[in-house]
Amino acid sequence: MPIGTSYQALKDIGSLGKKIFTKKVDDEVRKQIQEIIDKSSELYDRIVFLEDERQSNRELISDLQKKLLNIKKFAREFKKYKPQKLVTGTLVYSYDSVSYKDKPPHDICTKCVRDSVISELQPSADYDGKSKNIAFTCFHCGSNFLYDKKVDWVKYITPELLSKI
Ligand SMILES: [Zn+2]
Repeated sequence: MPIGTSYQALKDIGSLGKKIFTKKVDDEVRKQIQEIIDKSSELYDRIVFLEDERQSNRELISDLQKKLLNIKKFAREFKKYKPQKLVTGTLVYSYDSVSYKDKPPHDICTKCVRDSVISELQPSADYDGKSKNIAFTCFHCGSNFLYDKKVDWVKYITPELLSKI
């Protein structure tokens, strides 16, 4: 083999070795880059998820603060009412108009109180004017409460009107 050819062969082998080595390094670097990209992508997803969580927690806290305010407001108002059993056996909460003068006497719905809602009962519009009892309605939940016309209803009507019924 002439010297030139041998030299060339050695050079080729060296070049091939270098290429193989370069390819190996490239593959490793590429693999590491891909791992970093994958990891970054995972971290980004995690950040997006945590940001969503933070946002919904913030909304939850805001909702809870509103509920707490409503409950406090309800508790302040509700202490002005006392449970009362009507002649008909119906249970209502009556406004303590002896201690609190800011509102006229009225009753509130016992069902709505369970949901921290104060809903004033109103005489039912379809009362015939003759029956001994009259239904009072809660316009918040639609429940009816039976009142004795002359005993339970007395606090809602004027003496003049009372004398006519
Ligand atoms: Zn009600």
